[in-house]
Amino acid sequence: MEKILLMLKNEQNKKLLREYLSQHYQVFLLNDHFPPEQDLLIVDGPGFRAYQEEIRKLKNQVHPLFLPSLLLTTKKNLRSYQNHLFHEIDELLTTPIEHLELLARVKTLLKTRTLSLLLEKEAITDPLTGLFNRRYFLKQGQRELLRSRRHRWPLSLLMLDLDYFKKVNDVYGHSIGDQVLIRTARRILDSIRDVDIAARYGGEEFVILLPETDAKGAMLVAERIRENIANQPFHLSPSLALSITVSVGVATLKHSFTDLHELIDLADKALYEAKKKGRNISFNLNL
Ligand code: GH3
Ligand code: MG
Ligand code: MG
Repeated sequence: MEKILLMLKNEQNKKLLREYLSQHYQVFLLNDHFPPEQDLLIVDGPGFRAYQEEIRKLKNQVHPLFLPSLLLTTKKNLRSYQNHLFHEIDELLTTPIEHLELLARVKTLLKTRTLSLLLEKEAITDPLTGLFNRRYFLKQGQRELLRSRRHRWPLSLLMLDLDYFKKVNDVYGHSIGDQVLIRTARRILDSIRDVDIAARYGGEEFVILLPETDAKGAMLVAERIRENIANQPFHLSPSLALSITVSVGVATLKHSFTDLHELIDLADKALYEAKKKGRNISFNLNL
């Protein structure tokens, strides 16, 4: 059920809107303990003057991409919001409130919101594995790198590549190969924390960013992932269990690094060494 936050000062508006909307939606008042992820803001004139800063803050969060807002005001006062239209305010409804008009306006705004969430999700997700895609990883990773530098926190990156994956495709076919990638992604997710960012970097290559994790910690995570994949075959059908292994390159942020690609290159070199050493191992060039 969608969540609507009422930022109202007028008691009559509060009463009416709660009555009209709470049958269809989850309705919160500003002084309730409201969850941070809202789907629509509804504000009245006095509310707008009182909470302008809050509205701006809620709407300017990177996620959600688009949080719509609806202003209720009298016809007489409409013009005074001209400069706020399409900034803090997306849609207008004149008072006195017509029940149906309100419902229609709310429904359209919530639809826009749903579509923008869908678009946002598709833009950042790898369609096969459901992990983040490369584009999101590079963008978010660079942000994390700058944040880590600023606070002098450690930051590590794992690059993971399936061993002899071409053989899986050659022997069992491409769709079994795809299943292996999906299962690998799941094992990666099962082995990391919520704050870690796992993405499919290329065909059978995965990257995992580990905030606030030093070289020693990163090696522990790399080994945990590697073992979680190697120790349990993938049961892809009643008659097919495939033993899969991965090699992992481990890299940790250095003082001189200002660009995420420097960290990625270091992990890539470490991965190359892991492959050379025989595969199914984790390797860090600096340990
Ligand atoms: P190594 O141990 O050196 O990594 O050997 P490898 O065979 O895993 O490495 P290589 O880079 O030679 O092969 C990667 C293969 O991954 C080639 C390609 O057919 C396969 N691949 C890439 N993307 C996909 C995909 O989306 N689905 C499937 N099924 N296979 C893919
Ligand atoms: Mg590869
Ligand atoms: Mg490979």
